[in-house]
Order: sequence, then structure tokens, then C-alpha cells
Amino acid sequence: MSRIGTETAFEAAARARALEATGRSVIHLEIGEPDFDTPRHIKDAAVRGLLEEGMTHYTAAEGIAPLRQAIADDVRRWKGIEALPDQVIVTPGAKPIMFYAMLAVVDEGDEVIYPNPGFPIYESMAEYVGGVAVAAPLREEREFRMDIEEVAGLVTPRTRMIVINSPHNPTGSVMTPDDVRAVADIANRHDLVVLADEIYGRLQYEGAPLSIATLPGMAERTITLDGFSKTFAMTGWRLGYGIVPAWLAPTFSRLVINSVSCTNAFAQAGAIAALTGPQDAADAMREEFIARRTLMVDGLNAIPGASCVMPHGAFYVFPNLSSFGRSSADIATHLLYDAGVCGLAGTAFGHHGEGYLRFSYANSRDNIRAAVERIGDSLGRLERTGDLVTSSAG
Ligand code: PLP
Repeated sequence: MSRIGTETAFEAAARARALEATGRSVIHLEIGEPDFDTPRHIKDAAVRGLLEEGMTHYTAAEGIAPLRQAIADDVRRWKGIEALPDQVIVTPGAKPIMFYAMLAVVDEGDEVIYPNPGFPIYESMAEYVGGVAVAAPLREEREFRMDIEEVAGLVTPRTRMIVINSPHNPTGSVMTPDDVRAVADIANRHDLVVLADEIYGRLQYEGAPLSIATLPGMAERTITLDGFSKTFAMTGWRLGYGIVPAWLAPTFSRLVINSVSCTNAFAQAGAIAALTGPQDAADAMREEFIARRTLMVDGLNAIPGASCVMPHGAFYVFPNLSSFGRSSADIATHLLYDAGVCGLAGTAFGHHGEGYLRFSYANSRDNIRAAVERIGDSLGRLERTGDLVTSSAG
């Protein structure tokens, strides 16, 4: 257990709620989930499944057949991935796919190259299964895109897997098609497995995403991770999936059977409606995120000492606040207690996140405006007085 990490977003949210309980107003920019409700037709389908269709029993471990078919159709339509329904593994949230990918593929001592800053579970799980997590730094100079030449230099005879995530949490960066092709080239040359985390795929705001699984030689070595949480505002439903090479599908089935048996039955009815029903709610959310992104980035860049790269996807900004001369963790704490704005320290996503904070713009425009104003006032105070506020007592 000493090797397993965590995701501090849940802890930060608890700290913010504790502060709110004392009567303070807190604007929540720590949360990695859409603030919208799940579209009505999706809920209706799940309720029908529950009340009228007897979906109250175990299902097949890998998911019900019509959902696996719907997912295979959906990834063909949106990603151009040609996969048989047998290659679709439905899971409670997309996160288990990461867990299973590491368990299935990474042996003791195998190296896993992963983006840092990045979703903290890649590093945590790689280490937990006995592998060695090898950080590929994402730097502001490259708008937080992976440096593929640097990645090529990290490959050793022990490298087994490369994790990519585009659009990216926590920076909102998006890989260019050339970047994706270059990673495929490395994977093909060195016989590596790629875990492609495409959970924010529908939230890429410029250009069309390129799924690495569609490139020559890659279908056999790519685990594509996606789900319903972000696209359809369904985080609490716990619904995700992996598209896995045929040779890995039986392994993933076993891992599902050994861990969760199957995914909630009536939630799967909702999932079918999400993919096959009207897409206008998902499209509207996307449009709203685009408007909020500008509001957030412009607001942060207007704060003296702060600078924020324009993200190209997901719903996060990753401003550079290093000029204030404090650690990311200290600034995050200060902003919570002094300004009533909850964000996450960049270091919650790995040591290359030092100097940055992550704010989610999955919040109302009014709250974003208010948060940016509070952040500006509070950082101004910090600059003038040097007083770091580290608790609710001030
Ligand atoms: N991958 C990334 C990059 C994420 O940010 C998240 C959630 O925050 C997930 C995967 C997991 O999604 P789910 O809630 O469906 O398990």
C-alpha cells in the first residue's frame, strides 16, 4: 500500500465543504465534473430500465450486448475506431479501465511513461502493480503538449506502456495529429502498449481529435479509455468503457469478474440512450464550456503576476502563479481561506505541476467572474503584505 497514490481533488472538496459549513462562501473550481444535470432522456431510459424492464439483476460482466454494440457504433462514428462489440468492456466509470490496463499489462519492473502533470491515477497504478512510473514532463513552453522527442528518449528495454491523454487533465492541452502519429511510431517500433485516455474527446475545441487506435499497427496495442462522465454529465452514474485489442478482452473480462462482477444494469440502459439519443444537450454543454474558457483565461491573464495558456479542450485552466514566490500548495490553501475560491495545486498532478494551479471552469459564468475577481484581489493582497493565509482562522 505504500506504493499507491491518490487523487487529492476529493480531499480539497472536503476541505472546502468544511469551510462552507462555518458560513463562508466558497466558489468550487476544484471539481472535475460538469455542473450540468444529466439530460432528461438519459434519466428516463434508466428509470424505464429500473421500473419496467426488469434491469435489476447482474448483467454480463463486459456489459449488456446492445450497449456494447452502441459503443462500437459510437467509437466508429466519433473516433473512426473499428472495433467489434467483443472488444468493448463496460465498467463503473472509466477509471477501472486504467486499473485493469496496468494490472493486465505491466509486470514487476516494467516502465510506464505517463504525462506529468497528469491524472494522478496513472502514476499511482503503475507503481502499485510493481511497475516504474516514468514522468514525461509537460511544459508551458509547448502549451503543455508532450515533447515526443523527449518521450522517445525515455524508452528503455523495460518500457511496456505509454499513457497519453488528449484533451488533457489538468492542463487542457491537446495533442496534434503529428504528436499522435509520433507516439504510434514509438509504440510500433518498441512493441509497446498505449493507454489512450480519451475521456475528454468530445470536449476538444479546435481541430478534430485523432484516436491513436486508428493508426497502422495500433489497434493491436491500444487500450482506448472513454466514458459517459464528462460528455453527458454523468459522473455520479459511474459509467465508462475500454476498447481493448481482441487478445486483451478475455483478461479484462476476468478482471471485471474479479472486482465488480458487472456495471449497474439500469445505468447501462441510460448509457444506450446517451449514445443513440439526441446529442443537443452534450453539444450545448460544449458550447457553454467554450464561452466560459475565454472568460476564465482572460480574467486570469488580467491579474498582475498570473499568466494562463489558452487550453484547447476539457474544462480546466492551468495558470502559472510562480511569480508569487510560494508553492502551489500554499497558494491553493491561501486562495481557499483568504478568497473563498477552491482550486487544486498543480502538484496534485505530479511534481512537474509546481508553480501552477488547476481551476475547473465547469461552473456558472457568474461564479467564474466572481472567482477571478476574488483571486485577483487575494493575490494582490498577498503580493502587498506577504501574508499567506493558511487556515480559516486567518
Ligand atoms: N481520465 C481522466 C483524464 C479524468 O480526468 C477522469 C476523471 O476525472 C477519468 C479518466 C475518470 O473518469 P470516470 O469518472 O468516468 O471514472
